[in-house]
Amino acid sequence: KGIQIAIDGPAAAGKSTIAKITATKLGYTYIDTGAMYRALTYKALEEHIDVYDDEALTHLLERIDIELTPTEEGQIVRVDGEDITEAIRSQEVTSNVSATAAQPHVRELMVEKQRLLANSKGVVMDGRDIGTAVLPNAELKIFMTASVEERAERRFAENTKRGINRSMAQLCKDIADRDKADTERIASPLKQASDAIFIDTTSMSIEQVADEIIQHAEE
Ligand code: C5P
Repeated sequence: KGIQIAIDGPAAAGKSTIAKITATKLGYTYIDTGAMYRALTYKALEEHIDVYDDEALTHLLERIDIELTPTEEGQIVRVDGEDITEAIRSQEVTSNVSATAAQPHVRELMVEKQRLLANSKGVVMDGRDIGTAVLPNAELKIFMTASVEERAERRFAENTKRGINRSMAQLCKDIADRDKADTERIASPLKQASDAIFIDTTSMSIEQVADEIIQHAEE
């Protein structure tokens, strides 16, 4: 038994951190759809496929196997058996992922895959179009955001752990660019679903946000 929880919002708003905790607390499956677009982007870069070429990317997506495995330490991402959990967080993947994600046929295929993955009992899925396109009937929809500065600070802390060196100014620009690309693309742009609950997490702790979502889930 369980419900579908859709969490959408702009880059680095804390969606995956919150989604992971919420899923653990509820005993649900967590699915990070951004990791799927990142995995495709990683493969495209490796194979020198143009990240704006919808047809080539779609063919690539059809022949690779993207596997998301939840573990205690977080989600493991594999493509054709290779563990790319860390590799998909690289600067190169991050700055190219919005291009692959803007391709309409890529999105169609991804949405199909994501619906199959959500076909279990309780699920928390995070992304950009979960409430609007992937799971329009989700029982609970959250749209989560935070100020650009706050998001850049959170990403900075994460990067430090990963050994990625990028200034706050660069991170603010990265995030603003990705938001622009994700919001302005034609194929299911980033948008709050009309029935989503809006949460501004700028001055909230991770626990506060997770608790608020769980409260809604239990209503
Ligand atoms: O969530 P994350 O930052 O890992 O997502 C990476 C990128 O993948 C986003 O910037 C967006 O371009 C794309 N994405 C998407 N739809 C989703 C999830 C991610 O377009 N459901």
